[in-house]
Amino acid sequence: MTDKRLKVRVFGVVQGVGFRPFVHNLAQKHGLVGNVCNKGPFVDIEIQGGEQKLAAFLRSLRKEAPARSIIRQIDTQELPIAQYNGFAILQSENTGGEVFPSPDIGICDDCKRELFDKNDRRYLHPFINCTACGPRLTILDEMPYDRARTSMGRFPMCKTCEKEYTSPENRRYHAQPVCCNDCGPQLEVIGNESCRCADINPIIAVRSVIRNGGIAAVKGIGGFHLCCDARNTQAVSRLRMLKGRPAKPFAVMVRDIDAAKRECYVDAIAEKHLDSPEKPILLLEKRCNGLVCEQTAPENPNLGLMLPYAPVQLLIFNYPDGEGFTDCLVMTSGNRGGEPICKDGNEAAIKLSSMCDIILSNNREIRMRADDSVMSLYKGKPYMLRRSRGYSPLPVTFVKKSSSAVFAVGGELKNAFCLGRGDKLYLSAHIGDLSGVSSVETLDDTYKRFKKLLRIEPEVLVCDLHPRYNSTAYAKMLANEQGLPILQVQHHYAHVAACMAENNLDGEVIGVAFDGTGYGTDGTIWGGEFLRASYDGFERISSVAPFAFAGGDAASREGWRPAIGQLAAVCGFEKTKEFSQALSLCSGEQFAAQTGLIKSVFNCVTSTSVGRLFDAASAILGLKRVSTYEGEAALALETAAERYLADGGNHCTLPETNTNDIIKSLAMKVLDGEQSGKLAYAFHATLAQVVLRGCEESRRRTGLSRVALSGGVFANRLLLQLCEKNLTAAGFKVFRHSLVPCNDGGIALGQAAIALYRK
Ligand code: ZN
Ligand code: ZN
Ligand code: FE
Repeated sequence: MTDKRLKVRVFGVVQGVGFRPFVHNLAQKHGLVGNVCNKGPFVDIEIQGGEQKLAAFLRSLRKEAPARSIIRQIDTQELPIAQYNGFAILQSENTGGEVFPSPDIGICDDCKRELFDKNDRRYLHPFINCTACGPRLTILDEMPYDRARTSMGRFPMCKTCEKEYTSPENRRYHAQPVCCNDCGPQLEVIGNESCRCADINPIIAVRSVIRNGGIAAVKGIGGFHLCCDARNTQAVSRLRMLKGRPAKPFAVMVRDIDAAKRECYVDAIAEKHLDSPEKPILLLEKRCNGLVCEQTAPENPNLGLMLPYAPVQLLIFNYPDGEGFTDCLVMTSGNRGGEPICKDGNEAAIKLSSMCDIILSNNREIRMRADDSVMSLYKGKPYMLRRSRGYSPLPVTFVKKSSSAVFAVGGELKNAFCLGRGDKLYLSAHIGDLSGVSSVETLDDTYKRFKKLLRIEPEVLVCDLHPRYNSTAYAKMLANEQGLPILQVQHHYAHVAACMAENNLDGEVIGVAFDGTGYGTDGTIWGGEFLRASYDGFERISSVAPFAFAGGDAASREGWRPAIGQLAAVCGFEKTKEFSQALSLCSGEQFAAQTGLIKSVFNCVTSTSVGRLFDAASAILGLKRVSTYEGEAALALETAAERYLADGGNHCTLPETNTNDIIKSLAMKVLDGEQSGKLAYAFHATLAQVVLRGCEESRRRTGLSRVALSGGVFANRLLLQLCEKNLTAAGFKVFRHSLVPCNDGGIALGQAAIALYRK
């Protein structure tokens, strides 16, 4: 039997996931010789031996690849026989081309076990990791992924770690962030003098603060969290007060799956996602006998749960200091409202000191921030609300391969940007709301790191159409600086394109964008649109009925303002005044001021925003007149409707199809004494009818029958489900989001897809 020599090139996420050690062990197992090398965009293997052994090797390469790797393609090529001395892992080389840096990976079971094994040399080591788990994107400077190109570069390995790192049979073989108590980074307590003395263990100090009802800021993988005992109403209320966040739900980190099952309904699918290596925050239905206090997610039927994913978090829950400790912690991003998450000790000392009693930091630097990802489940599949740690920077593969490279800045709220090249679209981690200066600085910094990491040099910039967005200003500044062309894309068109790109669609679709607000091509505020859309362009076929409201930013928090605008649009000011008084929508002065503005068209906008429609309905049903966070009023409406269904309520709709008439009809029915839960449901079901009618009209006019549902309103799973049901029954093929958010966190993907397609 003669030997053969092959060159095998593996493309995909093959760096930072233990791929080379895996190849090494596989070669040895099959008695083959050769070498493996990281090239940045791919891994190259030279492999030589008997033909059958080679075939077995190639089969195993695909089948047994490390859990966290994603193989996109394997190319093989025969080479002339050469001389090898066994099988070697060669130094990484830098070559141009597509690169796939790995997202951060939650701690694996083996590391978890060692962490609490008294006889292990990494017993209680807060930075334990291996080739299968640990930080990746957040510590990375450049590809290829090697220790020197991460923030672990400044921590030389001790002799023992180095031995593990260089022993092929070890599970830390070539694990770049490998370290131990002797050579790794150190925890440090900042700010509080009494906790600073060297003889107090930082973990014990944090546990003691939390046990006594205090708040701790803890540096994790992608930034700081603020945490406190989720069972302690006083502690949670204090955190709300200090963070200036009266009602928006806090996420909860539970010690283990048992605690999760005590707090929420967790089925097998939910458990799989909770305990996945990505470790997202998963929205789950609360149980009534949980221990998490009401203040954590007030008036909310759901709770966002996650499991510990960094060793330091496990240590906080389980440190053997002989004291009891809570198994559920509020874990909210360590930032001031709307700002990016704090990533280093100095920043935390400045921004978080006033919100906590102790700050636990460490000297392993975070290169790129990554907030926790947030998702819910829809029909057993992930339905992403914030795509960040664990998912970014995995690319979306685009239907068309372009020779160009683009940078899409994204939207203004929930900002995430997107870099695209070839047929790959890379969404960044969550940046935040760009209304603040520090968020724009973070966007700039993250963009520069991201493009260096991915080696993408954009030739086109993309931003929103809104003339007063900071994102638009930033893109224009960059375009000026670098002499690059800029493409401005209408907000809802970008939403629809994001849904198309995620679903691998080409050609034309009927795009339904139900959203908060976005700047329209006619200068009015859109948000309830039926579009004929392809990557080449779009046409606005129709929209929900426009209405006027006043109050600028206040109107997006105070649902009574659009409510009055909508009532006035169909029944005049006199009748609206009667409704307003009977429903206690607002005070007499507020009414006079609001209608005065509408009449004079001063500080007043015309809008088709379905988001505002939800706010108006919520106000009219007496559920939420004023929101303290985005989506609060809509959530109250969805919750009331779901409760109506859970209590055995029947399907029902309102006869109206004009959205302003729907609001008037709701007002009349409330005054007739109709139950608010039933009306909340009828509102959802009627809107789903509006969507069906809009799509039917669009189909008549265009002949299209594929529908893409996008926009922040579709975070509402009841509406999504009703729309999908109606549309499918009427013969439409429905596409929706899954791993890319339907809200503004996803629009950069649509912007990038449009620009890349046109190049
Ligand atoms: Zn591990
Ligand atoms: Zn060590
Ligand atoms: Fe939007």
